[in-house]
Amino acid sequence: MTATIHWFRHDLRIEANAGLARSVATGMAVVPVYIYTPAEEGKWAPGGASRWWLHHALADLDAQLRALGSRLVLRTGDSLEALLALARETGARNVTWSRRYEPEIIARDGRVKQGLRDAGLEVVSENSSLLREPHRVVNQTGKPFRVFTPFFKHCIQQSGASEKAFADDLSKVDVMHLKHPANWPVSEPLESLELLPKVPWDAGFYSAWKPTHAGALARLGRFIDTAVTDYDEDRNLPALDGTSRLSPYLHFGQLGPAQVLHALRERTSLETKGAHQFLAELYWREFAYHVLYHFPVTPEHCMRPEFANFDWAPDTGILQSWKEGQTGYPIVDAGMRQLWETGWMHNRVRMIVGSLLVKHLLQPWQSGAAWFWDTLVDADLANNTLGWQWIGGCGADAAPYFRVFNPMLQGEKFDPEGDYVRRYVPELARLPVAYIHQPWEAPASVLAQSGVILGKTYPRPLIDHATGRKRAIAAFARMNAVRLTASPPSGIVAE
Ligand code: FAD
Repeated sequence: MTATIHWFRHDLRIEANAGLARSVATGMAVVPVYIYTPAEEGKWAPGGASRWWLHHALADLDAQLRALGSRLVLRTGDSLEALLALARETGARNVTWSRRYEPEIIARDGRVKQGLRDAGLEVVSENSSLLREPHRVVNQTGKPFRVFTPFFKHCIQQSGASEKAFADDLSKVDVMHLKHPANWPVSEPLESLELLPKVPWDAGFYSAWKPTHAGALARLGRFIDTAVTDYDEDRNLPALDGTSRLSPYLHFGQLGPAQVLHALRERTSLETKGAHQFLAELYWREFAYHVLYHFPVTPEHCMRPEFANFDWAPDTGILQSWKEGQTGYPIVDAGMRQLWETGWMHNRVRMIVGSLLVKHLLQPWQSGAAWFWDTLVDADLANNTLGWQWIGGCGADAAPYFRVFNPMLQGEKFDPEGDYVRRYVPELARLPVAYIHQPWEAPASVLAQSGVILGKTYPRPLIDHATGRKRAIAAFARMNAVRLTASPPSGIVAE
């Protein structure tokens, strides 16, 4: 029996995987392979937290395949060479995969496709990761969207038919009956990929996550049963478990967005405020991919060309304090420590910590994005880039630069009892609510009773809010003064 190779990438699941379904539909034996290729991903090779997740996701996918009589073959090194070698070993004539949309990966995949075709293999790629592939969505003038709301409206108006076609197409293929080769090619051991950290900083990850397909389904079920109804309100409160926490599963493709939408449609009404808001967030992910695909320089460069003249003030000491959750702003420090402990941070708090770094502290958003890249289990080039450019005020549909979040007010509004701060900044746990978001305002007696010594057990703010705000707005005004003479960085597509 001849064979076909399915190259798993960001589609680490069996069900509702269009690429894998294509492979199974050939009727041939399927050789599932994952190739670990950090060198081909360049600067955006998986960071530490992502590697932790990947290790467990690969082990889980292998276990699921084994339950079906199959297995996951692991290889390392050059993708094209690995696929050609596997084709030689198994006699495979076809290769399938699910498309990725990061600029370096698109270029790499183009080279691999050509190389395989030159060697006489047939190659088919499919979409298993997005509801709307970026090259299929344009505005009325035929250009990519730059603003979320019209993008969302456009996608929603067109959604029903193509989602249904996608679902119908998939349901015809029974991936559970995938045939396997008579002789299995050699697999490198998972441990040899060295994805887990040598210094065990990942202990908290194990209690925070189940990085498996079953874990994904459990989170999805729990979210639909208990949280989606109030999602429009609760999603802003970091002390609650009010969001889905599906982001790492979606990033690695242990769950596809079409599956999430399908489950949502089956078990609740998309007309409710909560479900509609959640749908919009799923489409923010789509929008992030749209922007990354059409503006591939954005992981490095601001979308708004005038920001080429912005006076950032890079400072490694300040950056380090921020990374360690030692800025002196409790809500910010809670967020940074949640990130370190669990590999995830609540979206509202991502915005607050980002704003402090970029605006009060004038650190380039790229430094914040790089730290998130290394520490988030859901690190995703499209979403991370969009999020940081939004915070920096320099991206597509971004918060205006002059809007500087007030970390105390944000804390009081979104963590009114201080529960989130108490959980992640235990040295402040005994402070009364009135001072939990601004310990420096507490009278000496209250600090003493709460066991807080400012500057010793907990830092004073790196910069006072009013000073930081003024400095940020002044830097923005200076940039605006020179914007008329500025030229856009190369590669930015002008509208
Ligand atoms: P939910 O609120 O349950 O949302 C459901 C899904 O919608 C998410 O899993 C995610 O896939 C998508 N989504 C939600 N909000 C956004 C958003 N603002 N932009 C794009 N997609 C969204 N998300 C990542 O997945 N990876 C990142 O690297 C990442 N970096 C970010 C950096 C910054 C500075 C900011 C402000 C946001 C970033 N986000 C990132 C977006 C968002 O914070 C996370 O997707 C969200 O917190 C994940 O939690 P959840 O799954 O519970 O989200």
